[in-house]
Amino acid sequence: MNNVKAYAAKAAETPLAPHHIDRREPGADDVEIKILYCGVCHSDIHTVRNEWGGTQYPVVPGHEIVGKVTRIGENVTKFKAGDTVGVGCFVDSCGHCDNCKDDLEQYCENGHTQTYNSPSQDKKTITQGGYSSHIVVKEGFVLNVSDKLPLEKVAPLLCAGITTYSPLKHWNIKAGDKVAVVGLGGLGHMAVKLAASMGAEVTMLSRSPSKEKDAQELGAHHFELTTDPENMKKLANNFNFIIDTVSAEHDYSEYLNLLRTDGVMIVLGAPPTPSAVPAFPLILGRRSLVGSLVGGIKETQEMLDYCAEHGITSDVEMITIDQINEAYERTLKADVKYRFVIDMASLN
Ligand code: NAP
Ligand code: ZN
Repeated sequence: MNNVKAYAAKAAETPLAPHHIDRREPGADDVEIKILYCGVCHSDIHTVRNEWGGTQYPVVPGHEIVGKVTRIGENVTKFKAGDTVGVGCFVDSCGHCDNCKDDLEQYCENGHTQTYNSPSQDKKTITQGGYSSHIVVKEGFVLNVSDKLPLEKVAPLLCAGITTYSPLKHWNIKAGDKVAVVGLGGLGHMAVKLAASMGAEVTMLSRSPSKEKDAQELGAHHFELTTDPENMKKLANNFNFIIDTVSAEHDYSEYLNLLRTDGVMIVLGAPPTPSAVPAFPLILGRRSLVGSLVGGIKETQEMLDYCAEHGITSDVEMITIDQINEAYERTLKADVKYRFVIDMASLN
């Protein structure tokens, strides 16, 4: 066991504070990683504040991890000490169910192990995430990261990047498709960049007029305010796809009405409170309301390689670990451009 430095929340109402956790000695199939950067996802906040229920304290969040390999187990062949690697939202799965065999470990039928606040596959421990100096992960759940791109800007690709890339690929979104992205935050800004890179005509739907110029710089072709009911009426029957990244309760039907016939609204945001979905916007127009969870390991590697090839990274605001509580407050106010990333050197 190695006792390492971390930042943890000890209860839903208390700020994150310095903490120590035990990391296992790397086993035969394990890779030990010194964490350089960790992105701050809104899921970290939902979990720390127990908004989804089930948080086990103390909890060390963080699932947008980039670092360097420090040690490997004897069976590890893909990595060696010094390699630059990434770890995303999950670190293990059963490995033998149909979904695991199909490279869809995130939908493991026996329950995948998330990077934090999640039981290990042997159910003996609860995982702790990337707001820490080191992490030990099975080789099969570690990603190759190109040194070509600035690593702090790569970290958010491990969640915000793959969460938006995976549905774009699954629903075969392509040149000529009219795609709306709802909410310009961490996921939203990656959805805009990735959809635009695939040739889609992208519209940003936001409550924040101050974000219009940024949306265009990120690659959006249009910007529409969702707070203006007349504007929303004008946009009816307009889009082939809507990618919804909103983190708080909102009315899905307002957006469903903006879809064309056979249009698909893809829910990525995970508000803690349910919303009623009326039948009529679905029936009228044969529209679909669907969801998507991150992406499998193979697809995450494909996304990282795609981003390296196309020069796509996240727009980040760097923070030190002691600024994490302030960063949470600013994220809740949708005041971040467009992902906070912790420089983990500040933990020392
Ligand atoms: P974020 O950076 O906080 O962005 C959320 C954006 O939603 C905000 O910037 C804001 O954009 C908009 N928004 C916030 N409150 C709103 C409200 N009350 N009504 C309308 N719009 C609102 O969050 P994130 O890290 O991108 O995460 C977004 C959500 O996705 C979270 O719920 C997170 O847990 C979830 N998530 C899901 C997956 C998955 O696999 N499906 C993966 C990661 C995260 P504007 O200012 O432009 O309106
Ligand atoms: Zn995330």
